[in-house]
Amino acid sequence: MRINRRSMAVLAALVSVLACAPTDEPPPRAAAGRHAGAPGIGDTDFPRDGNGGYDVANYSLTVDYTPASKRLTGVTKIHAKATQDLSSFNLDLTGLDVAKVTVDGDPARFSRKGGELTVTPAAPLVADSPFTTEISYSGTPAPAKDTANLGTYGFIPTADGAFVASEPNGSKTWFPSNDHPADKATFDFTVTVPAGLTVVANGEQTAPPATSGGRTTYRWSERHPMATYLATATIGKFQVREGRSRGGIPTYAAVDPRFKTSLDKVYDLSGEITDYWSTVFGPYPFSSTGGVVDDYSAGYALENQTKPLYGGFDPDEGIIAHELAHQWFGDSLTIKRWKDLWLNEGFATYAEWLWSEHKGKKSADAIFKDFYNRGAQDPVWAYPPGRAKPGDLFNESVYTRGGMTLHALRKAVGDPAFFKLLKTWTAQHRYGNVTTRQFVDLAEKVSGKELDPLFDAWLFQPRRPTLA
Ligand SMILES: [Zn+2]
Repeated sequence: MRINRRSMAVLAALVSVLACAPTDEPPPRAAAGRHAGAPGIGDTDFPRDGNGGYDVANYSLTVDYTPASKRLTGVTKIHAKATQDLSSFNLDLTGLDVAKVTVDGDPARFSRKGGELTVTPAAPLVADSPFTTEISYSGTPAPAKDTANLGTYGFIPTADGAFVASEPNGSKTWFPSNDHPADKATFDFTVTVPAGLTVVANGEQTAPPATSGGRTTYRWSERHPMATYLATATIGKFQVREGRSRGGIPTYAAVDPRFKTSLDKVYDLSGEITDYWSTVFGPYPFSSTGGVVDDYSAGYALENQTKPLYGGFDPDEGIIAHELAHQWFGDSLTIKRWKDLWLNEGFATYAEWLWSEHKGKKSADAIFKDFYNRGAQDPVWAYPPGRAKPGDLFNESVYTRGGMTLHALRKAVGDPAFFKLLKTWTAQHRYGNVTTRQFVDLAEKVSGKELDPLFDAWLFQPRRPTLA
């Protein structure tokens, strides 16, 4: 995720309105039943996000959407495994009407409360057993406007379709899920829209678009584990360019006709940058890369897996470098708790500085010094980036001070150890979930140095660290 600077003023105004802390809510109560699954996955900053008692392996989403009426009809099939005996379990879903739920093919009872859909199977589920649940639902999706300091996110209807960017917890605005990054799964998408529109989802197309009766069905599949917030099925009029990067990675770029002059640039830079990051961060973790520019003025870009989405602006190479670095830091390696968000944003911000250095522009060291020299009273020093606050998740400190943390580390351990660490980190935790503690431990192991004081000063203290 990166805020587009041109929209910063507007977003700063929004932040003051929207910075409500979800921790103000009372903690969730367990649903009735001796073996009820928890209504939250255990992230105390976002107590209702995700759910406990099961682990999803695959989402198979079937969605039919009509922009003119804003009506969505969906069937979500979830393959999961119970991690405990379950008399009932929860899914996250807001604002859409549920018509029917089955578990292993049998009708199940269900109830709704807030963003929780509680499902009670006809027979309890047994710990460690796989199960399948299918939810039929419909309605008019309403995007999320709270929880984070980012304005509007989730499934956002546009004039010609929908802009779908769900960080941190907006997937529940368009499909029922275990909506927290700690539960990653593969995804299959079957999305039907009026003929003439294009659907851009994650991964690769598994069949050519098929049109019948004035409607076209697109099939996409992301075979690598993905956090729910990275799932997209962005819909609209798009101009598309497909091919391969010089390094051989399949590349897909799509732009709204308003941005047609950006198509070749987005295509070329996405391939070039993905190839370059593959030499710096380790092998590209997914089967394709690319980028999508829609005409919805979100004021931000989101690193949707395999296809970053740029909301209403022509992206420069810094922001493309940022979103594609997230394919390693955020998408392949996914945070287990939102408080560790600097592991995404600090790394992606530092990647912008590395890209600048690579292109012979300003060095990472010069950029670091510019930020440091803003002075000890700069607001980033009062906000420790190693502990992202739920009501102010995307604070600038998580980005710039997070990036500065990595530069301070690089200077402390030297370039060989630093770049070896980045590749070791992405290899050891490929497709998994990560924590700050794991990164600090690995940094100490790879460098052979005691680094707790450095990380403590840069990540956890509410003041500007002194330079060594
Ligand atoms: Zn980002």
